[in-house]
Amino acid sequence: MADSLHTRYMAASDAWRIHRKGCEPCQIKQPCETGAPLFERLTRLQDAYLNHLRNH
Ligand SMILES: [Zn+2]
Repeated sequence: MADSLHTRYMAASDAWRIHRKGCEPCQIKQPCETGAPLFERLTRLQDAYLNHLRNH
């Protein structure tokens, strides 16, 4: 279970990083329309993952 959460967290992190790398708005101000859901997903999974670490 922890592995799959970690895997999803890593996948979301990769997706965001890869998008951000080629997207100027995401780098200099705020996430664009494409980047926003990626960033939101990463934030959510990061919270869940850190929460999981704290509770175990
Ligand atoms: Zn973007």
